[in-house]
Amino acid sequence: MAVIGIDEGASKTAGILWSEGRIEESVRLRTDTTSSETVLAGLVEACSSLMDRASSRGIEASGIGIGVAGYIDFAQGMVSDAPNQPLHDYPIRDMLARELAKPVYVDNDANLAALAEARLGAGKDSRYLLHLTLGTGIGGGIVIDGQLYRGAKGSAGEFGHITIMEGGPQCNSGHRGCLEALSSGTAIYRRVEHLAAEGVASDMIADFLENPESFGAHTVCRHAEQKDTLALDILREAGGHLGYGIATLVNIFNPDVVTLSGGLLDCYPYMAEEMYRAYEENAIPISRRHARILTSTLGKDGGSLGAALLALENS
Ligand SMILES: [Zn+2]
Repeated sequence: MAVIGIDEGASKTAGILWSEGRIEESVRLRTDTTSSETVLAGLVEACSSLMDRASSRGIEASGIGIGVAGYIDFAQGMVSDAPNQPLHDYPIRDMLARELAKPVYVDNDANLAALAEARLGAGKDSRYLLHLTLGTGIGGGIVIDGQLYRGAKGSAGEFGHITIMEGGPQCNSGHRGCLEALSSGTAIYRRVEHLAAEGVASDMIADFLENPESFGAHTVCRHAEQKDTLALDILREAGGHLGYGIATLVNIFNPDVVTLSGGLLDCYPYMAEEMYRAYEENAIPISRRHARILTSTLGKDGGSLGAALLALENS
């Protein structure tokens, strides 16, 4: 059986044709977030391209799964809201199904990344899995007894917005001191920006002041590689906050595994030690001794694979 899996984010849209347990084709394009129509057109383009390539190989896709970076009402097939995208109460599932004449299933992107880790990735064969996507923002997904847990309105697993530091720095959604405001790529960037504004001087700050647009968490990571103490401190701190967050989640869920994915994993070697220290100090022993924290084995395809699995398991 063949299906299409699409991972739609505010900056890029990636998709795969999944057939007989293999990625047969893939597509990647920039997401045009000018309006809901341009977002829909991009999704139709990605799906059509994969469907055309499938039929030229004699394969027919039976369904389409889509992961969207936003709050998704899975039962209604609606994007309730999406930070950084012009989608609000948008019936994306039915719009796409009409355009493409195929069954379409839509879920949150991090939920689908969690599903992929549980079925095919680092958490394969686990029953209780928590997943965190670490990038510009922080997303999360919960797999209980092998199935995604979505909550009453589909917004469960928003691990980025659990409070770590009361009254701390603000995230893009306006909360103070949440995990996303302390440990995401954006949080790391803002920390450097703050130190630069305070007049702190270092090679890394000079780099930031020279070129703030191209500066990001990856630049901090590069300075850490060169043993820049400021860069190492910032990543260690972000790692510590992440460890507190994971401890809270492990104390609530008692999972088999916690899997981590996303662009920020490039900085993981500089975050892990402090992450484990905070985690071990704050997770209750019975849960901590059982849970394993693992980095994703699926790389950039995790989201698309999860979307393909959603279509496969529902078609
Ligand atoms: Zn938040």
